[in-house]
Formats: sequence, structure tokens, C-alpha cells
Amino acid sequence: MPLLVMKFGGTSVADLDRIANAAQKVKREVERGYDVIVIVSAMSGKTNELVGWVEATSPFYDAREYDAVVSSGENITAGLMALRLQEMNVPARSWQGWQVPIHTTSAHSAARFKSIPRDNIDAKFAEGMRVAVVSGFQGLSEEGRITTLGRGGSDTTAVAFAAAFGAERCDIYTDVDGVYTTDPRVSSKARKLDRIAYEEMLELASLGAKVLQTRSVELAMRNNVRLRVLSSFEDTDETSGTLVCGEDEIMESKIVSGVAFSRDEAKMTLVTVEDRPGIASGIFGTLADAGVNVDMIVQNISERNYGDHIEAVTDMTFSCPINQVSRAKKALEDAQAANALGYEDLVVDTEVAKVSVVGIGMRSHAGVAARMFKALAAENVNIKVIATSEIKISVLVDRKYLELAVQALHDAFDLDKAG
Ligand code: ADP
Ligand code: ASP
Ligand code: MG
Repeated sequence: MPLLVMKFGGTSVADLDRIANAAQKVKREVERGYDVIVIVSAMSGKTNELVGWVEATSPFYDAREYDAVVSSGENITAGLMALRLQEMNVPARSWQGWQVPIHTTSAHSAARFKSIPRDNIDAKFAEGMRVAVVSGFQGLSEEGRITTLGRGGSDTTAVAFAAAFGAERCDIYTDVDGVYTTDPRVSSKARKLDRIAYEEMLELASLGAKVLQTRSVELAMRNNVRLRVLSSFEDTDETSGTLVCGEDEIMESKIVSGVAFSRDEAKMTLVTVEDRPGIASGIFGTLADAGVNVDMIVQNISERNYGDHIEAVTDMTFSCPINQVSRAKKALEDAQAANALGYEDLVVDTEVAKVSVVGIGMRSHAGVAARMFKALAAENVNIKVIATSEIKISVLVDRKYLELAVQALHDAFDLDKAG
């Protein structure tokens, strides 16, 4: 029988009525002739509550126990969804990650899939089961411990199952009716896209658009999974939502397809470090060893006149997630104290946000950066750091200007109009 993967996010299973509503959508696909693998998230707010309980119990917690606790929200939803389907006369059962078993690496709270054997679930389909409800976000390490995949990880579970079982499509049901040109909660002019290329979606996700977890898009692209984002609150059909697909399937020819943002950024500057080979490696090696995810980097070479001689020095600026600032600061200060690094000052700015424009059209069009900077200048938004790649341009701005910057860029690239 043809097979579909259907994933329901937290708000789509937030209470028993919503679980029933989701189950209705699953039943409809079963009636159309599909076997279905349903991937569920924890009920909305549950994972945050569980994280809070862990942190309140043990500030420097054992990552294995963190995963044991925070993975549990999904298990409740999986069982309830299977029960609801059974009540609707749909043969269904639930599976926790370890029962499948979903094999992952041992990187707790950031585990990656190693393999998803099909045998157990296939055997049940062969016996007449029509729906396998699987807990998203979790897996089993080589050591036999429960792992989780990082926040938003149920999207990645869904795509991994679609790839492993050769599903016709992977449908991600959520609280918006598709992927928009920017977060519809920030700009009322945001426009729903019918299609978006894997590469663009990958950039948008990694630059902050949380509608899909970045790794889910990566996995879909690598395995050619047809990935669709659609609303769990509306009536939907074959044409609903946004299809994430290959570039060759896209009709629209906009230079920029979307604006993404990430609110919780910080900017740190090491003032006056020596300008010589090995300095960058020393700084960013120190930060990497401390587990800091450095994003943008700027180096400003200058000359300092010390009276008797002139020395080439540099200021090194980088950005990282705001919750890693204390870790970054400690690592740099420790390295300075141990004479492994030398700098005059460390300046931290925790009031910044990152705004990015993304589009595969940028590959063949010049002038995107100029247009972006002009639009920000017209709103008097100062740019603090710039980073570019083939299909994106990102800037750091003061957080208080985030919404203004997103809206200005959305207007500047005419994203409210179909192209
Ligand atoms: P779920 O709980 O279903 O996984 P998420 O909250 O993780 O849902 O993702 C859906 C949210 O993503 C939307 O409510 C929306 O605010 C946000 N979002 C951010 N950027 C975009 C975008 N470009 N298009 C659609 N939604 C977006
Ligand atoms: N429940 C997890 C989270 O809130 C995973 C998910 O919903 O995708 O991050
Ligand atoms: Mg999500």
C-alpha cells in the first residue's frame, strides 16, 4: 500500500480535541488507501515545562537524564493519538523511539539518526495495522540510553521516517498554513509560498524561521523527500500548503524569496589583538572547545602607533546565541589569564538580532546587498555586522529594530507580490 508520513506539531495536539481533529485527518488518508506513519510532538508547552523541571532540579544536569525527561512529552501524545484512532475504528498502535528502534548517536539533546530499521513496523502493517504512531524528537543511543534530537526535532523524525519507509510524501501539519515569505506573526504582509526550493528553505530555517527544523530540510534534500507544510486547523487537500522541493520544480523567479530573523543573538568584540598568523585559530579554537556556536565573524585590521613603533593590530568581532555569552566570555577570559590569548578588552552587546534575506536568484543577480542596505538606511537602522553567502545576506541590528527591519526588507524586495 502507498504510505504517507504525517507529523503534528505541539499546537496541533495541544489538547484532546485537537488530537481528535488530527486523528480525523489521519483517518481520511487511511480511507483514501494510505498506510500512515504519524509522528507526534509533545502537547504545546509540555517540553518547555519538562526542561524547566530538569533545570530546577539540577542546574548542571546529566544530559542523559535531561533526555530521559524531556523526551517523555511525545510519548503521552503518541499513546493518546493511537487510542483516539482506535476509537475511530482505525487499527493503530503507538511506538516510542526505542521500540522501533530509532538508532541515534550518543550526542544527548543533539543526537543524529544512524538507522531506522523497518522490520517491526512493517510486520505490523502486514498484519493489518494501518497507522503507526511514533513519538517524535527521540531515539536510542549505542549505549542504550534515550536521546533527543534538539528542539523542533520531531520535524526531523518525520523526514527520517519518510526516507526510511519510502513514503510518497511527508506532510508537516502545524499552526500556519504553509511557509511564508517571512514569519506571518511579524509581518502582516507575509505571503504564503506554494513552493520553495530545499536550499532556500534550508537557509531560512538555519537563519531562524522555525517552521521546520534545519536538519529536517537537510535530510529531505539529501533523500529527495517531498516535504509539505500545511495547517492542521483548516480543511486541506492535495494542493494545500507549501511544497518544499527541488529547484527545477519552482516556477516563481524572485531574486529574494524570504526574510528570516533570529532574535536572540549577541555580539562580542575582542579589542586590540595581535595581527599575526594563528590569532584567529587561537580565538575560535578556544570558543569551539567551549562549545560556543560562533556565527558571523568580522576582523578589522588597523595600526596602532605606540610612539616608538607601529604595530598591526586587529579587533575581532563575532556573534553567537545569547545563551552562550557567559560560556564564551569565561573561555576567552580563562585563555587570557593562561596567556594563551592576548586582548585589551572584551565588549559584549546582548541587544542585537540577526535579519537575513534569502533567495537562489541571488546567485545570478548583483545589487541585492546594496538594495538591502538602502532599505535599512531609509529606516535609520544601523547595521552592526554583515555576512554573505551564495544565496543569503545577513546583518546584525539592534534588537529593538528587528520588526522594522524585517518589514522594510519585505517591502524592498516586493515579497508581498507573487513573482
Ligand atoms: P510546530 O509546533 O507545529 O512544530 P513551530 O512553532 O515549530 O510549530 O513552527 C511554526 C511557527 O513557525 C509558526 O507559528 C510561525 O510563527 C513560525 N515561522 C517562522 N518563520 C516562518 C515562515 N517563514 N513561514 C511560516 N511560519 C514561520
Ligand atoms: N517537543 C519538542 C520541542 O518542543 C520537539 C518538537 O516539537 O518538534 O522542541
Ligand atoms: Mg516545530
